[in-house]
Amino acid sequence: MSSRILHRTINHAYPVAVGGEGIYIQDAQGKRYIDASGGAAVSCLGHGHPDVTRAMHEQADRLAFAHTSFFTTEPAEKLADHLVSRAPAGISHVYYVSGGSEAIEAALKMARQYFVEKGEPQRRHFIARRQSYHGNTLGALSIGGNAWRRQQFAPLLIEAHHIAPCFEYRDRRPDETPEVYGRRVADELEAKILELGTDSVIAFIAEPVVGATLGAVTAVPGYFRRIREICDKYGVLLILDEVMCGMGRTGTLHACEQEGITPDIMAIAKGLGGGYQPIGAVLLQQKIFDAFAQGSGFFQHGHTYLGHPMACAAALAVQQVIERDRLLDNVKAMGAHLADRLTERFGNHRHVGDIRGRGLFQAIELVRDRADKSTFDPALKLHARVKKEAMARGLMCYPMGGTIDGRSGDHVLLAPPFISKAEDIDAIVERLGDAVDAAIGSVA
Ligand code: PLP
Repeated sequence: MSSRILHRTINHAYPVAVGGEGIYIQDAQGKRYIDASGGAAVSCLGHGHPDVTRAMHEQADRLAFAHTSFFTTEPAEKLADHLVSRAPAGISHVYYVSGGSEAIEAALKMARQYFVEKGEPQRRHFIARRQSYHGNTLGALSIGGNAWRRQQFAPLLIEAHHIAPCFEYRDRRPDETPEVYGRRVADELEAKILELGTDSVIAFIAEPVVGATLGAVTAVPGYFRRIREICDKYGVLLILDEVMCGMGRTGTLHACEQEGITPDIMAIAKGLGGGYQPIGAVLLQQKIFDAFAQGSGFFQHGHTYLGHPMACAAALAVQQVIERDRLLDNVKAMGAHLADRLTERFGNHRHVGDIRGRGLFQAIELVRDRADKSTFDPALKLHARVKKEAMARGLMCYPMGGTIDGRSGDHVLLAPPFISKAEDIDAIVERLGDAVDAAIGSVA
């Protein structure tokens, strides 16, 4: 079928998705796929949830759109109340956007304007981590640390500085305990702040659990507490990107809860609306709101569709269902089950070097040799082969290449819906096991 769409990959025959129910998406041929990655960690409630679609119908019948320079709306206000009352300590307000990249752009500008309002306009630097992903718009791409995604756009990107990620499987030295390793890599932040000038850094930005580029990598214990300490010491804002790992994906509403820290600014998106509508948000601390309120009186930013009533109504319904049905308990229980099943299937697999993650956000890392952790030749595009074999078996997972440096390394990310049952998890791991073996068989 010829298409007038500039698809993500040209000359690739995409199946046509025509329906979705629960954990399944169905294509026009009638084939059903288990959505074990929620697309890209989006569809936390699965597909076609009746309570969400009802809320959307009701909102569409009442009011589809009202521009935020003229009006506020009930779903937007209710969702903000819902989010703030469940947010980390000190978070007092919400700024709406339509997705993850927009949330990051808004967070960066909000952080910069905060210091302008406070009379510290000399602060101009952002520090982030290598092998992070924060979005594809120019600001988000600038702070992102994925070399491959940045490369051809490098001349257009704003200045940003990068330190090491906290990636224990690959980077902890044999003579280091996890704590010593975490301290070493966290202290890179302090060194970078000192190098740039202690009064010149706006913010440090990181994903609490690194999603797309590293594959569900959690930090070692104590790492983020040390990061928070360093930010506080130099008055640097801590921006957490929970676009992928947040809103329940790791078993708590916010991933940072499990690190024992509170951000100054937090970006959320995917699981907020669960894919029912495009929506993201920036959550901000009272001190930032106060600086704006007592200063210029407004945030110099904005998009046409921010706070869209349909998007807010859908997101509110998604969040209410998660709470009403106690789905975070299920994320924890099914997360443990998934970890067990992955360990059974891949724990002794000669080409699986690491199984990692938290809650219903887990990944396997593929290696040529477990002993030396060497990777497959990137030219083989093993990750793409896994995706193809998985789709052939009716499984959506999220494989990615470039795990090590944007070029070498392959991992497969799983992010099943929060409604998954034990037998769903069993089927996911069974199909994934077959897909991985077939893909590796095709290159061995
Ligand atoms: N931040 C993180 C951590 C992400 O994983 C993503 C998307 O994968 C983004 C930001 C960008 O979000 P979006 O694709 O909705 O613009």
